[in-house]
Amino acid sequence: MSKFVYADHAATTALSDTALKAMLPYFKEEYGNPSSLYRFAGTAKAALEQARQTVAACLNAAPEEIFFTSGGSEADNWALLGAAQLRGKGGGHIITTAIEHHAVLHTAQFLEKQGYAVTYLPVDGQGRVDPAQVEAALRPDTFLISVMAANNEIGTIQPVAEIGAIAKKAGVLFHPDAVRAAGHIPVDVRAWGADLLSLSGHKFYGPKGVGVLYMRKGLRLPPLIHGGAQEKGRRAGTENVAAAVGLAAALKQAVGELEAEGARLDKLARRLMDGILERVPRARVTGPREGRLPGHASFVFECVEGESILLRLDGAGICASSGSACSSASLDPSHVLLAIGLPHEIAHGSVRLTLGRENTQEDVDYLLETLPRVVAGLRAMSPLWEEA
Ligand SMILES: *Cc1c(COP(=O)(O)O)cnc(C)c1O
Repeated sequence: MSKFVYADHAATTALSDTALKAMLPYFKEEYGNPSSLYRFAGTAKAALEQARQTVAACLNAAPEEIFFTSGGSEADNWALLGAAQLRGKGGGHIITTAIEHHAVLHTAQFLEKQGYAVTYLPVDGQGRVDPAQVEAALRPDTFLISVMAANNEIGTIQPVAEIGAIAKKAGVLFHPDAVRAAGHIPVDVRAWGADLLSLSGHKFYGPKGVGVLYMRKGLRLPPLIHGGAQEKGRRAGTENVAAAVGLAAALKQAVGELEAEGARLDKLARRLMDGILERVPRARVTGPREGRLPGHASFVFECVEGESILLRLDGAGICASSGSACSSASLDPSHVLLAIGLPHEIAHGSVRLTLGRENTQEDVDYLLETLPRVVAGLRAMSPLWEEA
């Protein structure tokens, strides 16, 4: 039997059995529209509200602060565009970072074209944002700080609570993009001082195409999607009840298992990173040793193309990525790797292996056996390597 190792959990995860089971009734038997008034639809409506409560409890939020969206990208777009609209036509200033997901970065760039000013903070060599730099970037017209809780390419966890405190003191809205963090490290909207926060189901073993925007009580962002009065009039469209139920079940499960599973994955990823550094010359780990997401291993290898490595890994039954799924179709090196100061030619040799629930010691053994062989094989054919 040929080997198959899925090591790309930062791109997406398999739906958990618990989430699938929770969702099933809402596809067929309980198909009522939650907005309908007859009793039959009451079951769907109740399930939706139960899902909202479950999500709120996982984030230390209140149910009325939870708004279901079509995913992490919509939540990020809504946070930035909504905050800008709330601010008004006069423009204003947003602080974000150079390593955000494109759902935040491209939205910020769009707002720049609409006349808003944006500061893209640099990060250090490990991908960390310095809270002092956030504070120094504040302007009298700053209305929003958007900093991701954890980076999806190199696994760096940001000092979100410190940044939240700075935002609060300055009277500025704070939006942590917690899409890669939720279900993997503790997320607490109160402790983080978050006014807005984004989640996505498929990053923690929930379904794809559903996310959440947490919106602090009292904060009323205008809708991004106009139409019906769903989600308290702030997000139109017939609710995807099954998806919301699945997201909630998956989040509850992930948060419940977070400590034990985090410790297990942390050990596996550390063994993987140490083993690769031992076996492959001129390799480095991207992101910090401490303060990184559990299970998140990421590397750059000199004198070899990340894409070529991925093709050969695929041939060996290994699913990995070269950074973000969103940028792997383009030939530009990752904006995150450039932001941590890697030269273009080294940033091209990036490989991300993100471990998750179904990965085992044996999977790590197989990765440790295969990846060094692949890198050595490619280097043997490379004129760059001969010169080096
Ligand atoms: C995956 C991801 C997103 C986008 O979420 P989708 O649900 O896939 O739209 C946004 N931010 C981060 C940090 C992510 O990892």
